[in-house]
Amino acid sequence: MDTKDIIAKMTLEEKAGLCSGKDFWNLKGIERLGIPEIMVTDGPHGLRKQGSEADHVGINESLPATCFPTPVTMASSWDTQMVNEIGAALGEECRQEKVAVLLGPGANIKRSPLCGRNFEYFSEDPFLTGRMAAAMINGVQSQGIGTSLKHFAVNNQEKRRMTINAVVDERALREIYLAGFEEAVKSAQPDTVMCAYNRINGEYCSENEFLLTDVLKKEWNHKGLVVTDWGAANDRVKGLKAGLELEMPGNGGINDREIIRAVESGELDEDVLDRAVERILNVIIKTSETLKEDFTYDSEAHHELAKKAAVSSAVLLKNNGILPLDRNKSVAVIGHFAVKPRFQGSGSSLINPIKVDNFSDSLKKILAEGAEAVYAEGYDPEREDPDPILIKEAVRAAESAEIALVFAGLPEVSESEGFDRTTLDMPPAHNKLIEAVCSVNPNTVVILSNGAPVTMPWLDGPAAVLESYLGGQAWGGAVADLLYGIAVPSGKLAETFPLSLDEDPAAPNFPGGSASVPYAESIYVGYRYYDRINTGSGERRSVLFPFGYGLSYSTFEYSDLAVKKPEAGDSLDEVRVSFTVKNNGPYDAAEIAQVYVRDVESSVFRPEKELKGFVKVELDNGQSREVTVALDRRAFSFWDSGNHAWVVEAGEFEILVGSSSADIRLQAKIDVESGDSLSSWASDLRETVPEYYAVDTKILTDLSPSGPFARLLGRELPPRDIPKDVPFDRTSSMDDVRGTFVGKLLYAVMRMNVKKMIGKDADERMVRMMEAIVREMPLRSMIMMSGGAVSGRQIDALLTMMNGKFFKGLMELLKTSR
Ligand code: BGC
Repeated sequence: MDTKDIIAKMTLEEKAGLCSGKDFWNLKGIERLGIPEIMVTDGPHGLRKQGSEADHVGINESLPATCFPTPVTMASSWDTQMVNEIGAALGEECRQEKVAVLLGPGANIKRSPLCGRNFEYFSEDPFLTGRMAAAMINGVQSQGIGTSLKHFAVNNQEKRRMTINAVVDERALREIYLAGFEEAVKSAQPDTVMCAYNRINGEYCSENEFLLTDVLKKEWNHKGLVVTDWGAANDRVKGLKAGLELEMPGNGGINDREIIRAVESGELDEDVLDRAVERILNVIIKTSETLKEDFTYDSEAHHELAKKAAVSSAVLLKNNGILPLDRNKSVAVIGHFAVKPRFQGSGSSLINPIKVDNFSDSLKKILAEGAEAVYAEGYDPEREDPDPILIKEAVRAAESAEIALVFAGLPEVSESEGFDRTTLDMPPAHNKLIEAVCSVNPNTVVILSNGAPVTMPWLDGPAAVLESYLGGQAWGGAVADLLYGIAVPSGKLAETFPLSLDEDPAAPNFPGGSASVPYAESIYVGYRYYDRINTGSGERRSVLFPFGYGLSYSTFEYSDLAVKKPEAGDSLDEVRVSFTVKNNGPYDAAEIAQVYVRDVESSVFRPEKELKGFVKVELDNGQSREVTVALDRRAFSFWDSGNHAWVVEAGEFEILVGSSSADIRLQAKIDVESGDSLSSWASDLRETVPEYYAVDTKILTDLSPSGPFARLLGRELPPRDIPKDVPFDRTSSMDDVRGTFVGKLLYAVMRMNVKKMIGKDADERMVRMMEAIVREMPLRSMIMMSGGAVSGRQIDALLTMMNGKFFKGLMELLKTSR
């Protein structure tokens, strides 16, 4: 039956009901019309299908599934083909488990290296993010399974993620925060897009008409549905009008009744509801068709793919020639992670892996007969402070062997959904261990497992450093192959590693206040900032490791750059950049060549250069190959906030081909013609905000009404913190109301419930995450958390009490329970 015919047969109650989940993971079906229930689950780098005990933060165990490397890891492969294969494998797992929609990938930009969820996101760069997200979506959807591109949009921190107002200028929004989503939507059409919890410039994403309708549906032509992040619905009717179709999880019928009431009172046009229902039905029908057939995936093949991905994503940061290692040499394996790998992040993406390869076992298969391996634990993963006894043992082991391998990084408690990191440093227990081992054995190799940049005060010490990120269930074998030259490293950083937190452009404004977070750095995110920031000396700001950086066991030579643009007209859609890459050996290896574009002179302030193309080339030892990267009009455009359009300004552009953002090997200039006209906003910008042209650090710190950021925004900044005299409402968080008597009680009850939920044996990370979630949860979430047992009217009564009218509120509360 055609969806239109189905809708014609549906009652108002059925339509409203379809717009919210049946429970935590299932959508409702309508039996009499043959509409099946479908299941959705997390994502994004594995399947987290839970049984009856459901939660959205990884508390209850899910059934076994392949844990692929997390997105931060996959992104450093720069291998869209491989990410597409992983997507297809995830789709297969969904088919076997009868999951209709996988909740991923995430396309949020790594604004700050401290975001607790950075391991779930791809990059600081929107172009790379968009390409990766599109590749994954296309892979999953090739199996007839849906995806959920998340968290749309500007969700770049965990702190107060459910209510924070991200204050961002229009150009940064378009060029940095939406561009990755745009690419993914336009070239992969995800069946669903998940709107984020937070607000953008004052408006919740879940009821943001500009975001959900004007941009997503009208401009980008998204055909699927928009689903809330779990518990992100605020004003349900406003959301529906704004382009939000599906609320998850179920709301116990409360919001469905709101929708019915709104239609009956004429507040909501039933056509709006019908259009939402149509989009939901389309996804249900499409995916449930796929799931009719049984399917079994090959878990061994998926494990091999996970290993290939971990191999191709690890980034070699330093190598004085010690790598690849000699398998005849004795080795000390040091660090808890060598035996109990840290291979994934925590929270809603937590996978129950089918199996896990640790390094120690993988090493045994590689070492030559007679070559000895000793092990020392080095640190307690639950403790930050160095343990002198464990360090002593490690030093002894390192002294006894020809080579020392130290496995270190960030323990689980340091990074998770739910809270942000507060430091870039690794725990002292890890740093001290590395220093101690390096001081006794110059042949030390450090292997890092972490989901975001760290500082490396010990970097001069080891002979080599391999950043393996969070490498998934096959991490151990992949690292062993890389260290011993069975495979050659080919990953490159998808993010900058700063020297220290002080240098990070987001740092002065991360994570903002209780009400809002100003994105004062505007478009200067990641390398776009480090390349341009005014250091006073005219030099680029030095970083620990730049964006796009990564070594190989081979070296590569670049030559013969040619840039061709079509002769006729001014079409920039077919600019072809060709060059030759040669593997100078001594290994067969792969190189990621990056193409950046620089506008030599422009009316608006622009980054020094921006990534607009890349290619990963596999080359035999000694082989060379000509490769071509195509650029389109967007590669030369900027967002003109005056015209609200992408605009190309005519003039000279440089095409820069590099092995990293800081290692440009070839460059060419081209003249670009353009018929686009610039708005007066763009022509006047230099006068309006000269500080952004000079890239003065004042842009980050002067948030006054006459300061550069306010001038760029064209308005005063909203308050950073919630003003004291504003009454509490349903969006107030537990933290906000905790100062009141009723708030304190409520908070205590919530904490008690959560403690029960996570159990008394919960580890520190889980406790920290849940504490943060409860503290920052808006009161309206209690409706969702209670499955509808707590009503909106009850919350309003409590609010009346907390707003100083205790007895009036109490009476209201009593009335609701009658
Ligand atoms: C997370 C989403 C996730 C959802 C369901 C939310 O808390 O932000 O990424 O898909 O829960 O688990």
